[in-house]
Amino acid sequence: MHCPYCGAADTKVIDSRLVAEGNQVRRRRECQTCSERFTSYEVAELVIPRLVKQDGSSEPFHEEKLRAGMVRALEKRPVSVERLEEAISRIKLRLRATGERELPSRVVGEAVMDELKQLDEIAYIRFASVYKHFKDLNQFREEIDRLETEDRQVCPPEKAQR
Ligand SMILES: [Zn+2]
Repeated sequence: MHCPYCGAADTKVIDSRLVAEGNQVRRRRECQTCSERFTSYEVAELVIPRLVKQDGSSEPFHEEKLRAGMVRALEKRPVSVERLEEAISRIKLRLRATGERELPSRVVGEAVMDELKQLDEIAYIRFASVYKHFKDLNQFREEIDRLETEDRQVCPPEKAQR
């Protein structure tokens, strides 16, 4: 890191410690040229990418919007708030883990569908029917059939036979 006093390219780290519950690294540095000391902080970049819609416009990620959509799909379904919050955390983690500045907004929709599929199938179908704009009952039926097929594949054989 360059010296903020004289602009020299070479500064030496003389002390390094974790701060803010381990989320930041604080470093004391000394300039090799002018001997001034300064502090730098290092934090992981945990920015959630902006979402690019199909028309090319983009908007920041809104956690409240995500939660509202999931709560609507989960209405009157036996899924606890804790499990919903865990799912939201996983979705945010997944978005951050891409390391991208921008992502197509459908990535969020797909992440929500993946989580809802694990939480509650009815909620999943509700969300998917809105999200995927099922055109008719056949398409809806196909999705349910697909889910049932997937279920059979993941069930242990003795359970699937019942
Ligand atoms: Zn300097």
